[in-house]
Amino acid sequence: MKPNRSRRETRAATLNYIWCNGGAYRPDLAENLALTDASISRIVAELKSEGVIAETRHTAPYQGGPSAFFTLSKNRHVGAIEVSNNSIHVGVAAVTGEPIFIERLPLVDGADPLVVEDAMSKAVGALASGCARYGTQLEQIAVALPGYGVGRITNPIIPLNTGNLLKSLEHAFPDVATEIANSIAARAIAHRTRMRVGHLGSPSFYVFVGHGVAAAVVDEFAESGDVTPCEIGHMVFDPKGPKCRCGNFGCVETYLSTAAIAPCLKVEEVAILDLGDKWPERIPIASKAEAELGERLTRLGLTIGNALNIVQTRRVLVGGWPVGLGNKSIAAIRKGVNSSLFGGADDVELRLVESELGREPSSALALATFAYLRRGGTSSQVAMVKNAAAGNIAGVQD
Ligand SMILES: [Zn+2]
Repeated sequence: MKPNRSRRETRAATLNYIWCNGGAYRPDLAENLALTDASISRIVAELKSEGVIAETRHTAPYQGGPSAFFTLSKNRHVGAIEVSNNSIHVGVAAVTGEPIFIERLPLVDGADPLVVEDAMSKAVGALASGCARYGTQLEQIAVALPGYGVGRITNPIIPLNTGNLLKSLEHAFPDVATEIANSIAARAIAHRTRMRVGHLGSPSFYVFVGHGVAAAVVDEFAESGDVTPCEIGHMVFDPKGPKCRCGNFGCVETYLSTAAIAPCLKVEEVAILDLGDKWPERIPIASKAEAELGERLTRLGLTIGNALNIVQTRRVLVGGWPVGLGNKSIAAIRKGVNSSLFGGADDVELRLVESELGREPSSALALATFAYLRRGGTSSQVAMVKNAAAGNIAGVQD
């Protein structure tokens, strides 16, 4: 079926394919985007002349095959502010992913609105002074916030007035478009680019288990790549359970976040985050702790099964600390899904995926790149967006 796309959508689809695959040959683009050779040649020439993509010569993958290989340009940059792990991570990178600079500012969980506002204004200042220091012009800024939702008046995790944040970003970066989204949406976008599969594939339920616990429904069918955040981390298991940073008691997060499992392992949370997916290689797990983690993962499975009772997809991808435990995690989570999902877990595809534990602000940078490419790689003045719809990161529209 030949898709009916506008010029901007065709540019966006081309750029997204190049991004998600780490580069592409012209025939791959034509085939995967269902475009004629002539149209793809025209689009590629246009994007190249604008400096959005670069052409390199590669050894042909087969005798007589194509040798012109297209990648995103290293000369286009995006900026990011990502709130995670008691910090604000500020950074700038090329759209190809090469970092220019990264800074970390403290922002502890539970800080009051004034402290949050002050920390955020310092973050905006750090972004601006970093760009000035390196002479970097930004195409797009993205902000990834836990607990953020479109139309959610108060954010129970980070009490931040996003209107004020947008104003201060606009003041510091007058012509740069900004997108704000829930952290899990940013993580889901970042994960997709690492899969190197372009935009093809069935919808999935992406779950991240780190300092926060959240999920997103990712619609891989849509070229726009719609992502709908889902606060499974704040489903309440036991109203008499431990107090959660959202203000409620006994949320999933209070059993499964890295902060919640660190005491079982007798380490500080930061030790797990710093080691990333390889944490079990360095942190010894006593048999009692292993049993405890297994029970908690089964709880996570119960939550996922309950969520799947509401959403249609049966493809579940889990990132975060469970990844390090491999098949043990899969078995424990599946057991939980099986006991809560209507009809059982037999048709559920459950996979662990490489995560970004402790690699902030890479998710927000991916979100910024995604927003830039989604508007077809046009300069940001044209697309100044006032936080248009961002919970499902639908902020960039024609
Ligand atoms: Zn909570």
